[in-house]
Amino acid sequence: MQTLPDFMREFLRADQELRRRSNELERDLWARFGLNGFCFSESVRDARSYEPGKMESLQKSEQKVTITSTILGPSCDLTRARFTLVRVKADWRIAGLGYFCRICAGTGRAVSPKEPGTVKVCLICGGLGYFVPANLKAPASTAPASENLRSTKPDLDRFMHEFLVAQRALVARQVEIANEMWASFAVPQFRPANLATIKRQWDDQTMVHTFNESAEDAVVIATVVRTWQTESRVRYTVSVSNNVWWITGLEYACPSCNGTGSYLREKDGATEEMVCMVCRGNAWFPGDCS
Ligand SMILES: [Zn+2]
Ligand SMILES: [Zn+2]
Repeated sequence: MQTLPDFMREFLRADQELRRRSNELERDLWARFGLNGFCFSESVRDARSYEPGKMESLQKSEQKVTITSTILGPSCDLTRARFTLVRVKADWRIAGLGYFCRICAGTGRAVSPKEPGTVKVCLICGGLGYFVPANLKAPASTAPASENLRSTKPDLDRFMHEFLVAQRALVARQVEIANEMWASFAVPQFRPANLATIKRQWDDQTMVHTFNESAEDAVVIATVVRTWQTESRVRYTVSVSNNVWWITGLEYACPSCNGTGSYLREKDGATEEMVCMVCRGNAWFPGDCS
């Protein structure tokens, strides 16, 4: 029988390979729809995204083992986005992208955290109502060549429709390869998230809301899927069945207290322990859909 450390090393390597393939698919999407040079580039992403997660601790009891590891995992949600497009020859290309700022609800103004009661320019989006994601690399120059302006008028509606369809296909493929990976390591009734359900929601809710088009550029507001990577502490439960190790459970550490359930706070020169308000001391959240 395979040793447990070997099993976990193999799993973490497969997980890393999944992220690499997922990123590659995403890069293809932006290479097709973005202006030359526009990308959510790997080089912009944290280099750690290609290192396998590390095992922190291992707890054993009879046939069940719990392993804690910090991994960089994918996150995604539906969000409103503001696309800036430019005309390139007879078509459009995405030259800029900002996501709706939830802190100020897109107004660009928010209550100052230091002076309650006063409204100031939102610090997250700098007053724009949309923020540019950190891992986005936008091309330096977006000025279209003048010859482009005389070409046939490209159809903005068709371009955005094709983009949304391609993005949904990308997400569907990412779900597929994730399920393939999990099928080799986890028991059949366990999967990390019910992505099929989420995907249906994406199919229904991603859409173009408004667009503002001029001769050489356009601004489009659309609801899209935003994907990004977050580092999180994960606790895997692993069991033996038919002489093979299988992952049977997964939990995420509370991002606020990092899985400890409490904070230490300095007060009047003494250190006191406070129960975490986000997880109410539970420390771990279930990470599967079974
Ligand atoms: Zn804002
Ligand atoms: Zn917590």
